[in-house]
Amino acid sequence: TMQNPRPAIRTTCPYCGVGCGILATPDGAGGLAVAGDPDHPANLGRLCVKGSALGETVGLKGRLLAPQIDGRDAGWDEALDLVARRFSDCIASHGPDSVAFYVSGQLLTEDYYVANKLMKGFIGSANIDTNSRLCMASSVAGHRRAFGSDTVPGLYEDLEQADCVVLVGSNLAWCHPVLYQRLAAARESRGTKVVVVDPRRTATCDIADLHLPLAPGSDAVLFNLLLAEIDRHGLVTERPDGLAEALATARATLPQATGLPHSALQQFLDLWCGSGRVVTVYSQGINQSDSGTDKVNAILNCHLATGRIGRPGTGPFSVTGQPNAMGGREVGGLSNMLACHLEIENPVHRDAVRDFWQAPRMAAKPGLKAVDMFRAVEDGRIKALWIICTNPAVSMPEADRVARAIAGCDFVVVSDMMARTDTTRLAHVLLPATGWGEKDGTVTNSERRISRQRRSLAAPGQARDDWRIIADVAARMGWADAFDWDSPGQVFAEHAALSGVAGALGGDFDISDHAGITGPQYDSLQPFLWPQSPRRKGGRFFGDGRFHTASGRARMVSVTPRLPQPAPGAWPFLLNTGRVRDHWHTMTRTGLSPRLSRHLAEPFLELHPADAARLGLRHADLAQVASPHGSAILRVLVTDRVAPGHPFAPIHWTNETASRARIDALVPGVVDPVSGQPASKSANVAIRPF
Ligand code: SF4
Repeated sequence: TMQNPRPAIRTTCPYCGVGCGILATPDGAGGLAVAGDPDHPANLGRLCVKGSALGETVGLKGRLLAPQIDGRDAGWDEALDLVARRFSDCIASHGPDSVAFYVSGQLLTEDYYVANKLMKGFIGSANIDTNSRLCMASSVAGHRRAFGSDTVPGLYEDLEQADCVVLVGSNLAWCHPVLYQRLAAARESRGTKVVVVDPRRTATCDIADLHLPLAPGSDAVLFNLLLAEIDRHGLVTERPDGLAEALATARATLPQATGLPHSALQQFLDLWCGSGRVVTVYSQGINQSDSGTDKVNAILNCHLATGRIGRPGTGPFSVTGQPNAMGGREVGGLSNMLACHLEIENPVHRDAVRDFWQAPRMAAKPGLKAVDMFRAVEDGRIKALWIICTNPAVSMPEADRVARAIAGCDFVVVSDMMARTDTTRLAHVLLPATGWGEKDGTVTNSERRISRQRRSLAAPGQARDDWRIIADVAARMGWADAFDWDSPGQVFAEHAALSGVAGALGGDFDISDHAGITGPQYDSLQPFLWPQSPRRKGGRFFGDGRFHTASGRARMVSVTPRLPQPAPGAWPFLLNTGRVRDHWHTMTRTGLSPRLSRHLAEPFLELHPADAARLGLRHADLAQVASPHGSAILRVLVTDRVAPGHPFAPIHWTNETASRARIDALVPGVVDPVSGQPASKSANVAIRPF
C-alpha cells in the first residue's frame, strides 16, 4: 500500500556499463517506483526494460538476512571473528599468497577500494581478482599496450557525432540498450551508417546498414584487412611506434578466413575509409577470446594510424559489461594492477601506494588471475577464499570444475545479498550484504563518468555494506587504524587523494579535486567525467596526439590473427555464448521479476535449420549439448539467425533457476595469454536429442 510517498532519490542502475541515472521513489512500504533520470548525461531519462523493472526486484524474497556459519544463523561478531581468525591463521602458517579474494564489477567503488587495500597493502598478496576479468581484461591489456595506460579515449556522444559506427562483437540492442537507443536516434536524425560485425544476426542488426556475418574468431583478420586498405588509400596520417611492422603484417593477411563475400567486405572497407568520423564499438565478442588482446589492438591500430581518436565522433570504444567494471579498474581490483591505474610491477608506483597507505606489507608482484586463482583453489595452494558479490560456480569457465574446487577449499566465505545461489551453497561462512537501493557509493560507467548510487531503502535484516564488512574484518586482523571510516564518502575521499599521488606520477586517473569532499558534498555529488585536470577537464583523451607511453607516442601492435582450431570430430559444433535482453548475469536479481522472464522464459539453443534437420531436432524439442567439460539440456529454437555449425546459447541460467543449463560449464578454461581473460565466447560441443 502507498504510504507517505517520499521525494525521488537520484541513483544509478546496477546492471550494465551504460550507467543510466535513475529516479527512485520509495513508497514508504519497502517498495520503489523507478523512472529514468532526465538530468543524467548517460541516458537523459531513458531506461531499458531491465532498469525499469528494478522496482519489481527489491524486497525480501530470497534474501540472506543474517550471517551463517556452516548453515546455522550466527551473530556478526562471531562470524567476523571467525573470518579474521581463519584468514590470519592461514597467512601465518602458509604465507599471504595462500589466501584470495574474488570480487565483482557489481561492487561499488568504495567496496572495491577497501578490498583492494586490505589484500594488496596489508595482507601483502595481490591475490584479488574480479569477475571483470571475464568481461574486459583484454580491453585493459590492449589499451595499455597501445596507449601506455588503461584509458578509454572517447565519450558516448561520439556515437552520436560519428558518420559511421561499427559494432563488433557487441549485441548493443540487448546488452547496452540505452546506448543502442541513442545510436538509433542519431541514425534517424543524421543518417549515421551502422555496421554490425557478428557471426549471428542479432537484434542489433535491425538498425544495420551492413551486417557482416564473419566466421567466428576472424575479427583480427578483418581489421588487418582494414589497416591494409587504409594504407592503400593513403589514409595513414600518424606515425605511431610499430607502424611499419603492423602494416607489413596487415598487408600479408588474406581475406578468406573471414568467410565473407568479397562485395560485403569491400563495402565495409569503403565505408570505414570513406567516413571521416568513425567509432568502432566492441565488447565481449572481441574480449572473450584466446587472442582477445590482439583483436583489441587490431581495432586500435586502425584508429591510431588514421588519427581517428580523441576527436568528436571518432575512436575505438570498449563498452563494459558491468556497472562498475571501470570503477574496479580505477581502484586496482584486477590482480595485475595496483590502485588508481598504477602498475604493480613498477617499484616507484608500489612505494608511492605503500607510503600513502602506510602499508605494512605491500604486494610485490601480480597475483593470480581468475582462472588460475580457481586452479590454485583446486590444488590447495589457496586455502582461504572470500567471494564477494559474484557467482563463480555459474559464471567461470569449466563451472563444474570451479564449483568442485570451491567445495573442496578449506575455508570459503561468501558475501552476498541472496541466500541461495550456486555459490552460496558452497560457503562455510555466509555474510549478508546490502544490495542496490540499500547502499551508498559510486560507480564509473563505460565513458568514465562517475555517478552516485544512493540508498533509498533500509537495509533488511542484519545486512551490512560490503565496504564495512571488509573493514571490520581488517580491523579484527589488526589494522583498525587504516580501515577506520564512518561512511563510504570517507572511503571515496581517500581514493580521490590517492589518485592525486597517481596523477603526480603521470597517471591518467586523477580525481584529487575530490580529496577533501565532505559528507554533504558527497551526498549531492553530480555525475562527472574524469580526468579532472584543467587541461582536459571531462573531455576526450589523446586528441593532442600525446599518449601515456614513455615516448609519448602511441604503439601499434603487429597482429598475426589466431583462428579457432578446426572442430574436433567428437565436438563438431562451435557454440556461441551470450546474453538475452531481459536478464542480467546469473539472474539472482532479474530472475525475481516475472515480467522480465516473459521475454525468453527458459534456457534455449538457437540452431540453424540445416543442423536441426541433420540432428533430427525440431522447434521446441530438448537437446543435450555437451563439451569435454560439462553438459546442458536446452530447448531448441530453429532459426537462420545463426549460421550452420555455429549454434547460440545464453549464459544466464543456473542450477538454482533451471536444471542443467549452466552454459559456462561447457566452456573451456582457456585464456588469452596477455590479459588472462577466458575465451568464454565459444566452446566446441556435441548436440543430440534429449
Ligand atoms: Fe540499466 Fe544498462 Fe538498461 Fe541503462 S541500459 S537501464 S544501465 S541495464
